[in-house]
Amino acid sequence: SENLLVVDNLKTYFPMKKGLFGQTSGHIKAVDGVSFQLKKGETLGIVGESGCGKSTTGRSILQLVKPSDGSVRFDGEELISMPEAKLRNMRSQMQIIFQDPYSSLNPRLTVSTILAEALSAGATQTDPRPMRERVLELLSLVGLNPQHADRYPHEFSGGQRQRIGIARAIAVKPKLIVADEPVSALDVSIQAQILNLLDELQDDMGLTYLFISHDLGVIRHISDRIAVMYLGRIVEIADKKSLFERPLHPYTQALISAVPVPNPEKKKERIVLGGDVPSPANPPVGCAFHPRCRHAMDICRTVRPTELEMNQDHVVACHLYGDDERSK
Ligand code: SF4
Ligand code: MG
Repeated sequence: SENLLVVDNLKTYFPMKKGLFGQTSGHIKAVDGVSFQLKKGETLGIVGESGCGKSTTGRSILQLVKPSDGSVRFDGEELISMPEAKLRNMRSQMQIIFQDPYSSLNPRLTVSTILAEALSAGATQTDPRPMRERVLELLSLVGLNPQHADRYPHEFSGGQRQRIGIARAIAVKPKLIVADEPVSALDVSIQAQILNLLDELQDDMGLTYLFISHDLGVIRHISDRIAVMYLGRIVEIADKKSLFERPLHPYTQALISAVPVPNPEKKKERIVLGGDVPSPANPPVGCAFHPRCRHAMDICRTVRPTELEMNQDHVVACHLYGDDERSK
């Protein structure tokens, strides 16, 4: 099927201010050359530790933060060079769901008013039905009741608030939803309900998801394909099955080894990663993972590994694969 999103060598650097006069001293390379494609109706999970750049990647794609370089083609149109007025029109086709919907829901407005505002924008503004009817339909789509319409955000639980956040995001019938840690603040029992809701909505509305989480269990639940990020780069990307059955990158292998196994007879070794994620202001030379990698070789300390397609749609950036010549 067709690509909805093609991201090529995306970079988002933030200047670091230092000194009395606010002069710039280097950059934080939050996103440092990210490339991937997302097919219509697909869910790509982006997983990585905090500070790896996954959130900034999502926001850079939506142009909520300005990328420094690279290309983001959405439905065939380049977003990075797009004039602001045109971008504003595109915005309703690309929605974001946040970890904490509460902070983005106006506490003085009822849910009905919040959703009516969303319904008045984008492609749905020409729907001739009475607004009340459309609000109630939206509530029922996300598993809320008509009685919820006239309540205020503070009257809801965390899970219900996330349902309101989702209702607002789908009100405009977007094509792409970037979900940024949408269940991380919720109890585990509620997490599955919200993930299942997102799955149902995807099937019903043909939505495409970029789903960002630090939690590999959550990522496994929701994703078709998975990208593993480390220090601003994707180190491995594959469909869910091959990533879990044949993880190639030592970092992916460590992440997967930390996820509880459903079948306890299939015992596996837990790979414990030493050290913290280094600062993206001063990433290690060569492979950024080398200070924590138990397979690190000399070349890893000097040469940055390039992305290598190992099997169909299974891409890894690591010197253990391919020949060193190609990595120069
Ligand atoms: Fe480890 Fe080297 Fe592969 Fe980096 S390139 S993950 S340091 S083996
Ligand atoms: Mg799905």
